[in-house]
Amino acid sequence: MSVQFLDLKSPHQELRAELRAAFERVLDSGWYIQGSELKLFEQEFAAYCEAEHCIGVGNGLDALHLILRAYGIGEDDEVIVPSNTYIATWLAASYAGATPVPVEPDERTYNIDPSLIEAAITPRTKAIIAVHLYGQPADMDPINAIAKKHGLKVIEDAAQAHGARYKGRRAGTLGDAAGFSFYPGKNLGAIGDGGAVTTNDAALAQKIRELGNYGSKVKYHNEVKGYNSRLDELQAAFLREKLKVLDAWNDKRKQIAAEYLQQLDGNKLGLPHVPEWADPVWHLFVVRSANREAFQAHLTAQGIGTVIHYPIPPHLQPAYAELNFTKGNFPLAEVIHREIISLPIGPHLTDAQSVQVVDAVSHYCQ
Ligand SMILES: *Cc1c(COP(=O)(O)O)cnc(C)c1O
Repeated sequence: MSVQFLDLKSPHQELRAELRAAFERVLDSGWYIQGSELKLFEQEFAAYCEAEHCIGVGNGLDALHLILRAYGIGEDDEVIVPSNTYIATWLAASYAGATPVPVEPDERTYNIDPSLIEAAITPRTKAIIAVHLYGQPADMDPINAIAKKHGLKVIEDAAQAHGARYKGRRAGTLGDAAGFSFYPGKNLGAIGDGGAVTTNDAALAQKIRELGNYGSKVKYHNEVKGYNSRLDELQAAFLREKLKVLDAWNDKRKQIAAEYLQQLDGNKLGLPHVPEWADPVWHLFVVRSANREAFQAHLTAQGIGTVIHYPIPPHLQPAYAELNFTKGNFPLAEVIHREIISLPIGPHLTDAQSVQVVDAVSHYCQ
């Protein structure tokens, strides 16, 4: 039996009746954009994140971009981003017209290293985007302290961290504002694209609502050049059903992660490190192997699906050639990108499958 890396079908089979009912509710309502499903989802997701406001938007990248725009961050400004992240974090800064300024990660958690941030701050710096990579919260207290000292905004890229906690507090309330993605493979995923911003800042929430809806407060009255970035009624209705099971599904991920951490301990793989203040939601279970290609080939031969998140760091992507970075500029991000590999994890991975993964990995590592 093979183990696929990501099973997107089983979650929707489990909720088939609820999702069909949600579809029919929207179909029969005759209202498909900015209606009651969105309003309810926004209330429910804000409550889930323990945040005051939630605004549904088109996707996770838009969520981050709209936050920057709403804060007036753009041309001639700099935004601190992790060197070790998915490129969307950088693109949000670029879309706003600002320059992403990378900071290296803590090599054990893979998240931005707060002790390296101050050296990257210049008079142009306006914000720090901290990413909760793989579902593990970044170390937010020192990041917020630095931001306060320098008058910067703190934005969470929480695209991989729905439900994660930092010192007991949920992702989505750990900075000034947070961007979430509901891309199908995320812990809370739509059946299509979707995203949201959460914040406790009422003025920011109002601005994002306007910006995402053509820059208008009142229909056909446009205060600013806005965008079309909205979470539609169908996706909101689906997400309401999936939000009800998010904690249970995150718990299943935690159970599999605990099993992997216990069973794979003591072999030559680099295992994820969880600081005592972190309660991660295991969007991905990422290990490190000095000989990744051989390790991946072994797992493939055993029928175990794996994916590399991510093979090339943003600073070495052709898309960012304009910043003139070269190999060696961000060595920690580079070595992490060279060695990491993600094992299968998800709410519908069976016990037999996780045992199969452990066996295949242990066999290689002997
Ligand atoms: C998925 C993801 C995004 C972007 O979300 P989309 O909905 O695909 O636009 C941003 N940042 C991180 C870390 C992500 O994993």
